[in-house]
Amino acid sequence: MRIDIITIFPEIFSPLNASIIKRAQEKDILEIKIWNLRDFSRSKHKKVDDAPYGGGRGMVLACEPIFLAVEEIKKHNTDSLTILTSPQGEVFNQEMAKKLSEKKGLIIICGHYEGVDERIRSIVDCEISIGDYVLTGGELPAMVIVDCIARLLPGVLPDEAPVYDSFFDCLLDWPCYTRPEVFRGLKVPDVLLSGNHQKIAQWRHKQAVERTRQKRPDLYKKYSKTGGEHAPESSST
Ligand code: SAH
Repeated sequence: MRIDIITIFPEIFSPLNASIIKRAQEKDILEIKIWNLRDFSRSKHKKVDDAPYGGGRGMVLACEPIFLAVEEIKKHNTDSLTILTSPQGEVFNQEMAKKLSEKKGLIIICGHYEGVDERIRSIVDCEISIGDYVLTGGELPAMVIVDCIARLLPGVLPDEAPVYDSFFDCLLDWPCYTRPEVFRGLKVPDVLLSGNHQKIAQWRHKQAVERTRQKRPDLYKKYSKTGGEHAPESSST
């Protein structure tokens, strides 16, 4: 998959050059290109924003540099879906990430200051918010979106890993433990040491259901409606 990000702060994307996302790029599963919006400004001082018509607070990212940037990227990646990061967008979630991970390419536009000229919405396929709060720019939302999508691309994580993550089938993840067996009197549940894989699967599923019921009644409601269809066959839940 190819992801193009348009921003006025290309220097803040270093988190995408670490850990799993870095490896995904090294393995050529993911290609990320960061475009500096100022390179598409035709003004002498590389200006990309201006005061809002009608007066009032803040600066607004202007149409032309963003239109030119998207047009340039689309010359080579005609199939890419164009996303505007915006607190007014559809709220990002795991299901959306899954759908986006199946696309050939994404172009993500990072707004800044007071936002972007409204006409930019005419070249955008969808608007995504990462939650009901307002950030200073679309750079962190873009990184959240890329990170979440990248780990779903085939070959990035071990085959089955994302299937057992929180939110898959409306369940939170089960509790995990690692060595030592006892730490300051806190013990690993016996079942995990039993070597009985069927029992372990049942226990994990039961824990996932129970913690979803306690922590996220909204998700649990959705899960109940599915009839718990992905429970291990022998599960008692
Ligand atoms: N005045 C705007 C907010 C602008 S914030 C409003 O009230 O709607 C500046 C930029 O940060 C936005 O253009 C967007 O790209 C990004 N941004 C801020 N909060 C965001 C969120 N919750 N999700 C996605 N992008 C966000």
